[in-house]
Amino acid sequence: MYSFAVETRLTATALRSRVTVIGLDDTDSRERGMCTTYVAATLAERLRDAGGTVERRVLVRLNPGVEHKTRGNAALAVHTDLDPTRALELARDHLDLAETADPRTNPGVVVAPGGPEDVPAAVAGFARAAVRDYHDIDDAVGLAAESGYETAHAGNGRGRIGALAAVGAWRAFDDWTYECLSYRERDRWGTERDVDRESVFAAADRAYPTAWDTVDRGEGDPVCVPRTPCPVLYGIRGDDPGTVRSVAGSIESESVVRCALFVTNQGTDAHLRPVDGFGAVSAGRAFRVDGEVVAPAETREGGHVFCELRSDDGEQMMAAAFEPTKRFRDRVRALRVGDRLTVCGEVSGGTLKLEKFAVRELATAELATPDCPDCGRSMGSAGAGQGYRCRDCGTSADGKVAVPVERDLEPGWYEVPPCARRHVAKPLVRGDFDAPTHPER
Ligand code: ATP
Repeated sequence: MYSFAVETRLTATALRSRVTVIGLDDTDSRERGMCTTYVAATLAERLRDAGGTVERRVLVRLNPGVEHKTRGNAALAVHTDLDPTRALELARDHLDLAETADPRTNPGVVVAPGGPEDVPAAVAGFARAAVRDYHDIDDAVGLAAESGYETAHAGNGRGRIGALAAVGAWRAFDDWTYECLSYRERDRWGTERDVDRESVFAAADRAYPTAWDTVDRGEGDPVCVPRTPCPVLYGIRGDDPGTVRSVAGSIESESVVRCALFVTNQGTDAHLRPVDGFGAVSAGRAFRVDGEVVAPAETREGGHVFCELRSDDGEQMMAAAFEPTKRFRDRVRALRVGDRLTVCGEVSGGTLKLEKFAVRELATAELATPDCPDCGRSMGSAGAGQGYRCRDCGTSADGKVAVPVERDLEPGWYEVPPCARRHVAKPLVRGDFDAPTHPER
């Protein structure tokens, strides 16, 4: 077990403050379990036991491309009225829950006196960049110090990056959704989850589309039930706090020891940066960019589908729909040379991993070998550069001709199904897109 280093910087004014934001990150381990949402939910209970009130818990998904993440790159904040000194004491003690026996778990806490909307612009900017870009530990530690925040950490304290981002998130973003998380009895952690599928699908149907990504109907997959060894039994996501709570409450399952509601940036596309062309993208970040299909989609080993695009700056890039995106791959296979698209996804290894795309313009004709105007049969080549000729009728044509094509796609947005959704990606059913939508459910 690590000991926790604490850096104290609180000013006298801050100590009198009646609002405190506590940021937390990096408490879980891929093999050993735990979950930072659980640490935040139980910390909120301790803050209440100590006489404080908890205004909200915030679950922020940071850059999904970060290699240090355990799974979904979550960071957490708790907004409370407990004084910052006491809040820090409780948060630091509570980090005992962190799975620090895993050397890749490097917890961090940041305690900010004052309201979450009053954080300095630089801290809000840090949060925005943490979702779309990369930070060093030193940047986080320096900015926390400049802002008069206290921090605590164990290991190398990388968790202070996510913790500071969680502190800045409330000011940084304005699109928020909700998740109600239900947690398991401790002695059940790591065992198979006992959740009644019928009740999940029935509750999901009743609450759709206010609650979304509860199940994947196409795959028959109850996606709200994780498969990892963490304390979560299921998590219900949506646009309304009452609805996600009521869906959670109507699921039949093994016993639930606690439920906690989180305000989150999940389902908001906060990670996407709009850019003018593939010349402006870089690895480990996610983009929204316009391009034209320049080669037919091809399915490669493993069932992954690739399609080459060119953006207006003349740069080309492969866009990919990997096998886990299931039926979305048929949408990509249906693309044709000349289609104009807007594509969204993370760039990695020179490929843009598609999360969604919009068809802006469909190619409605394609070049084909001409048919003979007399007999109607397909003409043959008359030799290199000599056009086409009908051997039976003697008719000829100069070259290929444009013929209309039937299309299986319509203009508008297409997306991966719920089973392949990234936490931060915005489901089409949430609306407010700039073209018609074809939501998956
Ligand atoms: P879970 O989803 O199960 O809670 P996780 O996927 O959130 O786990 P963490 O264990 O929190 O993963 O590890 C992510 C680490 O990466 C944290 O230490 C966090 O501070 C750091 N981190 C997050 N975003 C960035 C970023 N943009 N730049 C650099 N480091 C980051």
